[in-house]
Amino acid sequence: KPAEIWKDFDKSKVYMVDMESGLHYLLRVELASHQTLTGDELKTFKDFVTVVAKLFPGRQSVVKLLETLLEWLVSLPLEKIPYDAILDLVNNKMRIAGMFLSEQLQWVGCQGSQSELRGYPCSLWTLFHTLTVQAALRPDALANTGLEEDPLAVLQTMRRYIRTFFGCRECGEHFEEMAKESLQQVKTLDEAILWLWRKHNQVNNRLAGTLSEDPHSPKSQWPTPDLCPACHEEQKGLHVWNEERVLDFLKQHYGASNISPQYAM
Ligand code: FAD
Repeated sequence: KPAEIWKDFDKSKVYMVDMESGLHYLLRVELASHQTLTGDELKTFKDFVTVVAKLFPGRQSVVKLLETLLEWLVSLPLEKIPYDAILDLVNNKMRIAGMFLSEQLQWVGCQGSQSELRGYPCSLWTLFHTLTVQAALRPDALANTGLEEDPLAVLQTMRRYIRTFFGCRECGEHFEEMAKESLQQVKTLDEAILWLWRKHNQVNNRLAGTLSEDPHSPKSQWPTPDLCPACHEEQKGLHVWNEERVLDFLKQHYGASNISPQYAM
């Protein structure tokens, strides 16, 4: 299947429309396979909404929608929330109040050359890299949420979201393995940014040359030298990362001022 009309984009930018489409897909499609949220699922979803509502550097209408969803989830004394109630809130009540998340899925930086490639999983990575960077830049943002003072708050929330809800089960298992192995070594918000970068590169490495690779966006060790020459060094003829430069680059690349509003509706 050919993809829709190709949209030109700049690989050195992050596109707001990708993250908004990702949130749309997550709330309206991925969650829809769970009829009711209870127990751990509900806690995982609440923490996810908390992290995104507090840290997502999004447009006002979207941040407001997330904040309202959070207030509602926190205020409900229920142990069981039907998915329909979440959908109703996202679709109807919020739209009336002018808070809204675009109705359409549109991928730009996450566009695939075929419709089954890239898209949602790409937008989730993008969202979580952006959130780890925001957490380090605004360490007080999670005050009074129960997640403050934990440098792992974003990563643990991502881990639990991926394990509980992400449609690709195999991805969830792989990610869980990586987290079990090394997440406890992360002690600071900066290390959290670098941990996610390193693990994402491990995934890229594993997937290079497989069916999930879009030939128009080959899996590479990222950032490539054209994006960040200073990130790459050579020691005794071998490639090594300059992690200090990588950290600076990640903070710049996933920072609010590098998020392009282009194509956002
Ligand atoms: P993606 O890998 O989705 O990357 C999106 C964008 O992030 C890139 O275009 C680039 O701009 C940037 N980027 C790339 N690397 C890095 C990095 N190291 N640090 C920061 N930014 C970077 N698919 C499988 O088939 N098997 C799996 O086990 C699997 N596990 C996954 C686990 C998780 C947690 C997630 C979110 C996805 C997983 N996927 C897996 C999907 C896969 O990783 C890709 O998301 C998908 O194949 C689409 O790839 P993509 O080319 O759009 O780039």
